[in-house]
Amino acid sequence: MKTFITRIIIILFFVVALPLIFFLVKQASNLSENEEIVQRVFDKQLETILYTINQNSENVIVSWVSQIDLPVDYNGEVMQKITSNIFANNIAVEQIQFINLSEKKTIASYSQNNIEKTIIHWPGTQLVNKLGELIKNKFQKIEAVRDSGTVNLFFILKASNNDVLAAFSIRSDTFIDQNLRPGIQQISQDRFNISILDSGEASTNLLSDSLSITPANIHEQEMWYLPGYKISIGLKSATIDQLVSARMKRDNYIFAGMILLIVLGISFVIYSIRKEIKLAELKSEFVSNVSHEIRTPLALISMYTETLLLNRVKTEEKKTEYLNIIHLEANRLASMVSRILSFSKMEKGKRNYHFTNVDLNELIKNVVTHFQPHFDAEKVECKLEFIEAECFINADKEAITEALINLIENAIKYGNDDSKMVVIRTKTINGNVAIEVEDNGIGIAPKHQKYIFDKFYRVTQGNLAHKAKGSGIGLNIVKQIMIQHEGKVTVNSHEGEGSCFSLIFNEKCNKNG
Ligand code: ADP
Repeated sequence: MKTFITRIIIILFFVVALPLIFFLVKQASNLSENEEIVQRVFDKQLETILYTINQNSENVIVSWVSQIDLPVDYNGEVMQKITSNIFANNIAVEQIQFINLSEKKTIASYSQNNIEKTIIHWPGTQLVNKLGELIKNKFQKIEAVRDSGTVNLFFILKASNNDVLAAFSIRSDTFIDQNLRPGIQQISQDRFNISILDSGEASTNLLSDSLSITPANIHEQEMWYLPGYKISIGLKSATIDQLVSARMKRDNYIFAGMILLIVLGISFVIYSIRKEIKLAELKSEFVSNVSHEIRTPLALISMYTETLLLNRVKTEEKKTEYLNIIHLEANRLASMVSRILSFSKMEKGKRNYHFTNVDLNELIKNVVTHFQPHFDAEKVECKLEFIEAECFINADKEAITEALINLIENAIKYGNDDSKMVVIRTKTINGNVAIEVEDNGIGIAPKHQKYIFDKFYRVTQGNLAHKAKGSGIGLNIVKQIMIQHEGKVTVNSHEGEGSCFSLIFNEKCNKNG
């Protein structure tokens, strides 16, 4: 059996475990590769978000530019309307100014709330020349110049034949709060921390608390139209590293769990196979035991009947003796066959139980009367001890009788060769009634005690199995009967001293039926 099991283990290892372990290892190595890709994709995503925020600010500014880049009188009514509209919708815009480039003279100037301010200064010839060059090539560049909390945006108007320089003066913090915040909030969606920082002002976040900066910020970009300001983004709850390692950890647990499951699965398969093989061995032993047990009484019956038939027995006394032997052996045969039939019925779940009110004392006395000839023949001293004069319980009389017969037969079979003694008693165990069958026989070693109630199990130590004939189903029948009574059978045994079997019921002793 050992080599067979080893073969099964090797086959399972090569067919199931090895490919699976190979697959898992491959998965594990792929994992770190995948994590790198995730990291890269994530980095790209963050960069894109930063780009989008800058793009949004450009869209706002370009829309202002296109509103005023018209071939109109910059001092006229149309421009007045346009500018007041821009001021009304964008409180960050403080001033809009138009400067004639050839004359270097301010043509028109509009202010928020008409409060005249001169916050836009000549940006310098170099910058103006650069814008002039670009516009000649049809590229209208908007150049941002910072003046502490204000940013001036300079550009040349295409509609003026490149002769007018226009400028918006905006308050950066108001621009961030009013024009950029809604878009940023939409992007952040509670997943990211997005901050706009004035680099000069030691990390003062210009966005309100809900979008505040945390050390988890990992990407930064200069703001295109707000010089000296930078925008940064990071994950709200954890850094990517933390997320990646958390995922790695989780995947590792899953892998470990899978390997554990495989090991458990294989162990279970091996355990089941072993159990089946053991059962098959026990079954074949059972068949040979039963055949052997049947053969002996049959041989005796056949021998004595033949002697009687041939009239070889002279005295009446001898005749009676032989007939008694035949009767005893026939009874033994019948009881063995009925035990096997009862076992087979139980196995198929076809045994019916008829519960009635049974007097245990009377039941025990009847069984003992039935056994008296055996006790006499085997020189067994039998003692009875009852807790009550009457003890009624709800039970199947036939089944309990059968269980008791099995226990008493065993007590005789495995009894002490010199002086056999059997005590049958009723008892209260934890408030419930129990029948005990105690002997002073060979006892059962502790390592066998937990198996003796299994079907076909016999203690084969020494030559016990040969000495005491049996089939290994008696105690299993007892166990199943007790299960049907919602009770149990237990054993307390010491090798060389004796055994005590208890049938413990799930009810109390009733005094009258
Ligand atoms: P068997 O037909 O072998 O008696 P059982 O199921 O009745 O089968 O008992 C299983 C085994 O338990 C026996 O083989 C025997 O070794 C052990 N056994 C049962 N009753 C006793 C007892 N009273 N004393 C010692 N051993 C016992």
